[in-house]
Amino acid sequence: MKKVVIDILKKYKLEFLKIIVLIVILEIARFLPAKIVGEIIDIFTNDIANDNLIIIKFAILFLSIIIYCISRTGYKYFGRAFADKMNREIENKVFEKFLDLKLQDMQKIKNGELMSYIIRYTKDIRSGVIGIIKYGIRTVFTFMVLIFFMVNVNSKLTLIVMGIVLVNGIMINILKQKVKKAEADAQKAYTKMSEFVQESTDSIRTTKVFTGEEKQIAVFKEKSDEVQKKYIKVGIYSAFIYSTITVFFGICYGFVALYGTNLIIKDIITVGEFIAFNSYIKDLYWPLSWISKLITRVKKMQVGIEKLEEFYSLEEENFKGLDLAISGDIEIKNLNYKYSNNVKVLNNINLTIKQGETLGVIGTIGSGKTTLANLLLKLYEIEDNQIFIGGKDINKINIKSLRKSFCYITQENFLFSTSIKENINLFDESFENTEILKSIYLASFNEDLSLMKDGLESLIGEKGITLSGGQKQRVAIARAFLFNKNFVIFDDTFSALDNKTEKLILENLKEFLKNKTAIIISNRISDVKVADKIIVLDQGKIKQTGTHEELMNAEGLYKEFYKEQSSNSYLEEINID
Ligand code: ADP
Repeated sequence: MKKVVIDILKKYKLEFLKIIVLIVILEIARFLPAKIVGEIIDIFTNDIANDNLIIIKFAILFLSIIIYCISRTGYKYFGRAFADKMNREIENKVFEKFLDLKLQDMQKIKNGELMSYIIRYTKDIRSGVIGIIKYGIRTVFTFMVLIFFMVNVNSKLTLIVMGIVLVNGIMINILKQKVKKAEADAQKAYTKMSEFVQESTDSIRTTKVFTGEEKQIAVFKEKSDEVQKKYIKVGIYSAFIYSTITVFFGICYGFVALYGTNLIIKDIITVGEFIAFNSYIKDLYWPLSWISKLITRVKKMQVGIEKLEEFYSLEEENFKGLDLAISGDIEIKNLNYKYSNNVKVLNNINLTIKQGETLGVIGTIGSGKTTLANLLLKLYEIEDNQIFIGGKDINKINIKSLRKSFCYITQENFLFSTSIKENINLFDESFENTEILKSIYLASFNEDLSLMKDGLESLIGEKGITLSGGQKQRVAIARAFLFNKNFVIFDDTFSALDNKTEKLILENLKEFLKNKTAIIISNRISDVKVADKIIVLDQGKIKQTGTHEELMNAEGLYKEFYKEQSSNSYLEEINID
């Protein structure tokens, strides 16, 4: 991540330079008027007034004020634009990285944490960059210009002031460490609270059904109190830094008043210079008070960069491999698979799915059906020589070209909170509306759509909350008809459909799947019986293989499923040959 930030800084170095030049101009223009005012006072008090001299001094005074206004506006504009561009680039990079992560690594990170990586930490980096420009770089130049003007008046007086500032600076540095720790604690508490909010929104139905609202509110209050407490701590330390600055400047004014008047009496400095010097002290005050703001922002930014560094260390999927159009038989040889918890989920699977064939996969919940589909699309990594397509080991095939050949309708039926159209074309604008409408018809969603006032443009609530389970499944099924890939997988895609709709869709699929290689995963006989070949999975092992008729004529799990399901008088209604 540090590299990402450095690369972006390199890219925008010219804009950065522009900001620095503007800061130098604005700081000189800011402090020049005090010096000129001092000089004008001296002209009058020493009785050396001359019209031309006064006009020149006033002209310089107004000119520097105008230059100050222009350079300040420019610096603000370019500073923000720089931070915004940087923020956008970091956000994009983080989001790209997130999409390229391995699924198994992604699942180790909680949802709230992932959102923090993309939104919160990048925002903290932006705010840190603005802080560094505004309160850091600008402060350095303020000090440089101020010291130049102050030494010009009297170096001893400047030394006294700078000595006091130095002691104050040491104190600030000690307090800064405390701010860092408090800030990290506060961020941790905040992340926990966001994770809880995320889980609560995901589980809202369960909470309502079990009337768990009060308990959830209590837990949320606890978490938000914790966040508040931690942030109060950060505030206290930051405020303490601010207070020490006020005290030290009081001391500063006292010393300058004492020593400065002494210098006037001795004729070492003039009254005008003394007045100008006092106004410089006032200007030293603000940059110093900004240090606490700078510290808070930089600490936040550091935490943000460290967090993103952690995120960046996660491994990406392997995008190497042959980029080719995939076709041919799918062959699975001695496939074994364990997730990170080391429990064997697939056990010595041997299977061939001929090109153009439809395979039905049936089994109880947890028997490994989805895992098999996930491995075919390389959503999880397997060892070499276990899965082949068209004779090529899938580990040798580029992950993206492999996935582009498949249409995998997953169990989750995730819907984006956007229009029906975008949920079917998945933001791919190259499809015509007529094609989308045809796929909607084949997925039996046309009647539902006709009741929606905005048709294809009708908006779906967050995660499809306004659609029923069956409607969500049909929107997802329409994707398969639209994308029309050579390899199609339906994973438990028909479970929420009523019998009549299921029958209609399966009829449409019969035609659609001709010449395609398809896998229909289900725990219902009615879904898989259309397949050319069916495997029965149990605890990660293939227990039976055959056509519906063959399996019906053999004793085994398939027949048991049939008996169970027909006893529910379910199969009588579905009769697909
Ligand atoms: P099915 O699709 O037949 O219901 P799955 O393939 O989803 O079964 O799951 C098979 C087994 O693997 C189950 O015991 C499940 O708990 C486990 N499993 C699935 N996904 C993961 C995962 N990401 N990490 C660990 N275990 C998992």
